[in-house]
Amino acid sequence: MLVFALMHIPILDLKPQYNSLKAEIQIAIDRVLTSCEFILGQDVRLFEQEVATYLEVPHAIAVNSGTDALMIGLRAMGVGPGDEVITTPFSFFATAESISNVGATPVFVDVELESYNLDVGLIESRISPRTRAIMPVHLFGRPANMGQIMELATTHGLGVLEDCAQSFGARYMAMCPSCHGQCSGDTRDRLAGTFTGTLGTVGAFSFFPTKNLGAYGDGGLVVTHDGAIAEVAQKLRVHGSKERYRNEVFGYNSRLDSLQAAILRVKLPHLEAWNQARRRIAVTYGQLLADVPGVVTPAVVSGHVFHQYTIRVLHGRRDELREFLAQRSIGSMVYYPVPQDRLPVYDGKFPPNLNSEQLAAEVLSLPLWPELTDDKLGLIAMAIAEGLGA
Ligand SMILES: *Cc1c(COP(=O)(O)O)cnc(C)c1O
Repeated sequence: MLVFALMHIPILDLKPQYNSLKAEIQIAIDRVLTSCEFILGQDVRLFEQEVATYLEVPHAIAVNSGTDALMIGLRAMGVGPGDEVITTPFSFFATAESISNVGATPVFVDVELESYNLDVGLIESRISPRTRAIMPVHLFGRPANMGQIMELATTHGLGVLEDCAQSFGARYMAMCPSCHGQCSGDTRDRLAGTFTGTLGTVGAFSFFPTKNLGAYGDGGLVVTHDGAIAEVAQKLRVHGSKERYRNEVFGYNSRLDSLQAAILRVKLPHLEAWNQARRRIAVTYGQLLADVPGVVTPAVVSGHVFHQYTIRVLHGRRDELREFLAQRSIGSMVYYPVPQDRLPVYDGKFPPNLNSEQLAAEVLSLPLWPELTDDKLGLIAMAIAEGLGA
């Protein structure tokens, strides 16, 4: 018992990753400081090229944050005042905030309890003459149902902005769920195996330090197949100008720092291995928690990169379990305790979405980082079973 009490397990530990890359990162930082190219220098250009190659997309524009990537993405798609954007209530507030900040109105469509992602079957009835775009979030790293979202978008002439803040490296249906990669042609989804962020009109990514590909400060990325959208996004990140002192639109100061680009260039080649480690941990959690009554574990669908490992704790016992884990010095977090549409900023303006409300009361995210060891996973699972009296 004493061992339990003394072993502190945070929800996230970024130190092992830094320790494993320390020498390379210090060289990269020194290179930028020596060059004195702090803003949009060589490292930003090279990072944009390298990340575009990795994601298999022609245009990648590095910006100041994931939130800016969402706003710039929306504006580059032509979304503005008077427009409606369909999105999920169950996400971090930056998702809806970006829609409201460009002057458009979010239309909240409920999520599936199973995937935590948009319930695509509910979208069509919410499309109005003012709808301009659908904004799915690949929540916790699980790809949303992009096949049907793209079909709806094509049918109704809508843009699609993917919020990929939590899904860097996730692939939509990396393997067909029914055949595990054996089928082909008609039976296989046309989009299967494609990286999230490159299926829709625009993909927006975040490099906030805790994300799967995290910088050591803020950062974000806009990607697109559309050259005209890429050009507008490039302008918007530097005060709406292509040429200096030829400002054409009201833009932002939203450039990725060269220092962050240099750090991200060191990290990018490791991302696949880190995401694989996250998936392995998710599989282990699933096995360890399979028989704990009152816990619903997330499915390990192919292509999921587990930004978070988020369980549902049934029978109203979530907060009690979180408190029990805290007493055992085990970190956990509630992402998200309030659906976006219920936040004070929207002041009860929207009708409640029942699945999102239920998830807000049931979800609990457990410790997860690529270097998290099996012995710690065992301790966490034992504590959960004990806490729920299993
Ligand atoms: C983190 C996050 C954002 C915002 O990214 P920042 O880089 O922090 O601005 C947007 N959407 C989701 C779903 C996020 O998790």
